[in-house]
Amino acid sequence: MNRSAWVRLGLFLVALAVAVTLWFRVLKLQGDSQVVPYSEFLVALDEGKVNEVLLENERILAKLKEKSKTGSEQSMVASRLPNMDERDLIARLEQKGVKFSGHIERDSFWPAVLSSILPLVMLFFLFRAVGGMLGGVGRGARPMSFGKSQAKIFDRSSENRTTFVDVAGVEEAKNELIEVVNYLKDPEKYKAVGARVPKGVLLVGAPGTGKTLLARAVAGEAQVPFFSMSGSEFVEMFVGVGASRVRDLFTQAKERAPCIVFIDELDAVGKTRAGGGVFAANEEREQTLNQLLVEMDGFDASVGIVIMAATNRPEVLDKALMRAGRFDRQVLVDRPDVRGREAILRVHSRRLKLDAVDLKLVAQRTPGMVGADLANVVNEAALACARRDAMTVQQRDFEEAIDRMQLGLRKDGRVMSEPERRRVAWHESGHALLALSVKHADPVHRVTIIPRSIGALGATLQLPTEDRYLMTEDELRDTLAVLMGGRVAEELVFDGVSTGAQNDLERASELARQMVCRFGMSSLGPQTFGKASGSQFLGGSAVSFEERNFSEATAQAIDQEVRRLLDTAHQRAHEVLSARRTVLDAIARELLEKETLEREALEALVRTPIAITG
Ligand code: ADP
Ligand code: MG
Ligand code: ZN
Repeated sequence: MNRSAWVRLGLFLVALAVAVTLWFRVLKLQGDSQVVPYSEFLVALDEGKVNEVLLENERILAKLKEKSKTGSEQSMVASRLPNMDERDLIARLEQKGVKFSGHIERDSFWPAVLSSILPLVMLFFLFRAVGGMLGGVGRGARPMSFGKSQAKIFDRSSENRTTFVDVAGVEEAKNELIEVVNYLKDPEKYKAVGARVPKGVLLVGAPGTGKTLLARAVAGEAQVPFFSMSGSEFVEMFVGVGASRVRDLFTQAKERAPCIVFIDELDAVGKTRAGGGVFAANEEREQTLNQLLVEMDGFDASVGIVIMAATNRPEVLDKALMRAGRFDRQVLVDRPDVRGREAILRVHSRRLKLDAVDLKLVAQRTPGMVGADLANVVNEAALACARRDAMTVQQRDFEEAIDRMQLGLRKDGRVMSEPERRRVAWHESGHALLALSVKHADPVHRVTIIPRSIGALGATLQLPTEDRYLMTEDELRDTLAVLMGGRVAEELVFDGVSTGAQNDLERASELARQMVCRFGMSSLGPQTFGKASGSQFLGGSAVSFEERNFSEATAQAIDQEVRRLLDTAHQRAHEVLSARRTVLDAIARELLEKETLEREALEALVRTPIAITG
């Protein structure tokens, strides 16, 4: 018997004890018995109403001669008087000719045992509960069901299956998940060729982008059972429950493979195991996480279980979760661009009667919104329509809905004003055009002005973004120029610069300093300055110079060199962008309209990439 079974048995016994005790109470007081004062009992006795008397330790039970209307026996119960000699009473009873007998209640075995054990059991659970709550994970606890996993199971039989048709605007993520679907449909085939399919797929993306929906769609497409559980459900009130739930979840899953186990909000369990947790909650989370790792390692991929998880905070996850054989495949569920938003709006307004609504226009008016927001917009529009007592939803209903939604979103900083969007568009275009113009920059993969997180208003993604161990001096100089591109574009087009370039400048300054101090790429010659502690990876900002092993004059020279590198980069960026101003404007305008530009679209705009070296 495993632990959760014991827990269930214990609970069952407690419930039984309570039931039995109550039942005895009910039995004893059965019939029409009336609790009366002693005096009233005496009166009844004197009046000759009493038929029979039972003397118990603490009370007197008097059966009456008179039957109730329904024909059942009537009786009255009175408490015995404390420390009273009852010879008098007995004489009286004899005189009235009432039958009487004594009855000594002995505590029967079971109630005695239960009444001594019950408090202990309750104390035990109370302790655990308090421990859990001190740690701050007491919410949402359902003590009657712990140990057993609360997984919601969606079966292939369920009527309204979610499929990929219901998920729009995240084509890339869908493409990556198709392989998982194919595997689940026919695990044998994959086994036969010996292909290894990812055991764990981690969906990463902002809240409301459709991660949960996607996971469900994968199950729906593959027509396999789908065990869904939220990370916060694992970590509950009682220590040890999370781990036991994980075990239970996987036991169930193995019985029904091929299937999907989906752990939503993985960060609730998977947070980095930081030391110093005093309270039970931390320990509980760790236990749960460890159990999860054990279970993930414990079956081999051919079983046909795919574990999917979702998080919007991948950075806090324990590194152990990402190791090979665990969540080794990560799928980015991005915020949708204009076309994606239109597609999502289309999905959600399937069931509405639309009257000449231009969803494209709606999509253009809702930058920064994610799937969940858009579902809300559609719903609000339908409500607005209902308020008008109209039968078909019109454009103005959508306008009203957007206005309502945007008020809320502005507060989150997720929706930019029009001037802000323009600025970000030119800034990112500046980076992109520079990357396309210099010789040694990594190719631009995508430019976007969809705000990702607070602080990053847009992004220019260059590939490869990692896995570089060596970079030449020319490459680093070009990187500096690209970093300057955003700021320079702002200088050219708008009055002055904005705070948006802050991160670029930080990275550029850091890189320039490393070129001088660590890589020996300046007129100061092949020499390093200072002793680096911390990370030494390229572009890593964790380098700090602990020990200064050079003179004040050298320090000044270093500063000058850094300055010169940055100035040169700025100068180059300026030259490129002012020479190609028309292209810059074209990219920016296209970005404003489409929000995201892929590599092909960009290269088409630039058409003939002229290499300008400096
Ligand atoms: P997440 O798990 O990423 O926070 P959900 O999957 O719970 O987001 O999305 C919440 C709701 O928003 C979904 O039930 C769906 O109605 C809507 N939604 C979100 N993203 C999409 C999408 N890409 N396509 C269609 N609907 C979406
Ligand atoms: Mg979710
Ligand atoms: Zn920038």
